[in-house]
Amino acid sequence: MQLLDGKAISAQIKSEIKIEVENWIAAGGKKPHLAAILVGQDGASETYVASKIRSCEEIGFTSTLLRFGPETTETELLEAVDSLNKNPDVDGFIVQLPLPKHISENTIMEAVDPSKDVDGFHPINVGRMCKGLPAYISATPFGILEMLIRAGIETSGKHCVVIGRSQIVGLPMSILMQRNEYPGNCTVTITHSKTQNLKEICQTADILIVALGRPEFVTADYIKEGAVVVDVGITRVEDATKKSGFAIKGDVNFADVAPKSSFITPVPGGVGLMTICGLLTNTLKAARKEIYK
Ligand code: NAP
Repeated sequence: MQLLDGKAISAQIKSEIKIEVENWIAAGGKKPHLAAILVGQDGASETYVASKIRSCEEIGFTSTLLRFGPETTETELLEAVDSLNKNPDVDGFIVQLPLPKHISENTIMEAVDPSKDVDGFHPINVGRMCKGLPAYISATPFGILEMLIRAGIETSGKHCVVIGRSQIVGLPMSILMQRNEYPGNCTVTITHSKTQNLKEICQTADILIVALGRPEFVTADYIKEGAVVVDVGITRVEDATKKSGFAIKGDVNFADVAPKSSFITPVPGGVGLMTICGLLTNTLKAARKEIYK
């Protein structure tokens, strides 16, 4: 079994981006600028945004954080999005999800200029990805592809099973893994909560990508000997032995599954750390106008 080490791979990618930024600026390019909108006071969102801003500083981007209170209306948020769309100094921006219930996430996502949609959530970027056109690929799928590439994992002709069909993980992952390029060319099965005989399907997976949000759901009896196992799940579970009072659990029972797998991602220390790399890569592409001229 080999560990797909998100900590080491993400550190490597960040140092590569840092060099690219230095070269870009040395050649007369503008410092890439990522803005983030944060609405409300969700603890996890605060942590995620803080880590995005910190990463921007580490690699030489400009970053701006725009905070809005929990009572912010959809109209006010749309105005903020419009203002970032029009700001020529901002190359890309994100609206941290989830949003308060009175604001439609779809309405906000669709209001973002696709050329600045570095989260890759706008229907135009999703559609372009489906057609195999240049697009911002959303952060988590990007991170998983990078892990497969950097570990040199063969994907062509393999059976890839994806558990979960969410807009941000399962669905894009299933599309990317069937593309006629590397990593891709898999025969893909996408599964969800209504899937019958899930375990039997997983037992035929050469590559199993798990994103359902149920801690330690996948056990060794789901796994074909030698499978590649990618665990996307991140759930906080109470743990009195931890100072924080909780532990982070993946969707895969690591201790049980690892001995049967050829490659496996740990949680924490796996896919979660890779996600930021997708966002930074997309922002650099936006600054260089690589996708939208
Ligand atoms: P989500 O939107 O809640 O979607 C979960 C998916 O899993 C749904 O498609 C659901 O099916 C399916 N599902 C639920 N129970 C199932 C079961 N018993 N058998 C088969 N499928 C089942 O979740 P998400 O946003 O994709 O997130 C999934 C997990 O990944 C969460 O733990 C989340 O915190 C984590 N996550 C991590 C990262 C990262 O950077 N590592 C990024 C995003 C998310 P239905 O469609 O039928 O309801």
